[in-house]
Amino acid sequence: MRAVVIGAGVVGVTTAWRLREEGHDVTVIDASSAAASLTSHANGGQLGASEVTPWAGPGLILQALKWMGQYDAPFRLRLTGSVRQLRWLWKFSKRCTQEARIERISPNLKLALRSQSEMHRLLAQFEAEGSPIEFAHKRAGILRIFPTTKALTEAMETMPLMEAEGVEQQRLSSAECAVLEPALGAAHQKGEIAGGLFAPGDESGDAFLFTRTLAAHAAAQGVAFQFDEKVTRLETKAGRIVKVHTDRTIYEPDVVVLAAGVASPNLGKVIGKWLPVWPVKGYSVTLEANPAALGIPNVSITDEARRIVVSRFGTTLRAAGQAEVGGYDLTLDEKRGEGVLDALTATFPAAGTLGKPEYWCGLRPMTPDGSPILGSVPKIENLYLNTGHGTLGWTLALGSADLIAREISADKNVTMLSAQERAELAEFSLNRF
Ligand SMILES: Cc1cc2nc3c(=O)[nH]c(=O)nc-3n(C[C@H](O)[C@H](O)[C@H](O)COP(=O)(O)OP(=O)(O)OC[C@H]3O[C@@H](n4cnc5c(N)ncnc54)[C@H](O)[C@@H]3O)c2cc1C
Repeated sequence: MRAVVIGAGVVGVTTAWRLREEGHDVTVIDASSAAASLTSHANGGQLGASEVTPWAGPGLILQALKWMGQYDAPFRLRLTGSVRQLRWLWKFSKRCTQEARIERISPNLKLALRSQSEMHRLLAQFEAEGSPIEFAHKRAGILRIFPTTKALTEAMETMPLMEAEGVEQQRLSSAECAVLEPALGAAHQKGEIAGGLFAPGDESGDAFLFTRTLAAHAAAQGVAFQFDEKVTRLETKAGRIVKVHTDRTIYEPDVVVLAAGVASPNLGKVIGKWLPVWPVKGYSVTLEANPAALGIPNVSITDEARRIVVSRFGTTLRAAGQAEVGGYDLTLDEKRGEGVLDALTATFPAAGTLGKPEYWCGLRPMTPDGSPILGSVPKIENLYLNTGHGTLGWTLALGSADLIAREISADKNVTMLSAQERAELAEFSLNRF
């Protein structure tokens, strides 16, 4: 069966890989010149099952309005005048309740754990074949640190849900945080940490390196990558996509997977239903760490006070944060990047770094409820969505790819979906909007 995957970010590349594993003939089309050129390029690196709680929650809208005039606010709302943005914001505001937030934790968690087990299967397979993937993968957990006991207690409300799915979290005192991660010594001494939640099963790694390397493996296995080629139109006839038009040629695949990140809604218009994915801009800063410095964190950290995540990839240190619900503008505002760097150095003052900081920004493809949109759609029988991963694309990519590849194979009578897989796919269906 011939599949076209639109998009070669972490989501598209993992999908292409899984489809190839299922025995399909796969072509990936991407407008960029290489895999992982856009949002998957320099993200926070966290593979965090314990981090799947949606952003939308009680008090966020009020907080965002208060932050509206503040330049360095971690969450910013910038109205663009677009009706689609207003529509998205309306849906997002509806999700800003505790009930709505809790509702998505369990599905997200299941998908994160599926991704984790897919990751381990894949890595073992490459290892056995003598071609391991190097992406600074670390299985050392993620530690969330909180500035107040109130914030810590609120975060702990979701612990029973996480435990029910098998995700362990340990409550740590400030001193215990500094023992687990000695680089937090200064923050502990200054009394900046009220406590922490440590998820030992969480992981981290460089999504860019992983995606590029997996793309190379996929190409070696016969996946065709068409870069610098933009999909301009999906032509439908009698409830099917019959042609994929690009700025170079026309493809006539049996199935199409839309994994185009923030650009998905444009191509998704063929569905005849709004695809609620909106760009939320974030920044990261990458630094070469001085190996002689003692204050470089080893464990991946989520700093809830300064709203950044920090991961270490070998000798490289990455911090990421900021969220601007604006438009599609990808202009890099160095000041915003410096804000992330300031937050990093405030928490880790002894993290000696070398060279110039490298700033980057990307657009998270966000849905209002903080879960991706996966699977087949009602009116077009050969179109599958794999988009809207928002803050969690790296964490959820492999599980999403697995579910989609399994669904496509089942629809083509190659395999059968289990009841559990069907139930999981239903949780992420476009129908929920
Ligand atoms: C600052 C920041 C920090 C983050 N930290 C984390 C983290 O720690 N953990 C985590 O799990 N997630 C994190 N994320 C989120 C994660 O990076 C994204 O969810 C993920 O990269 C989205 O991947 P994607 O493949 O859907 O999109 P992309 O990587 O953007 O890929 C989409 C691709 O589609 C292509 N495309 C679009 N339109 C067309 C077209 N018409 N024709 C052809 N090609 C097209 C684009 O060129 C692009 O290559 C972070 C994001 C940001 C911005």
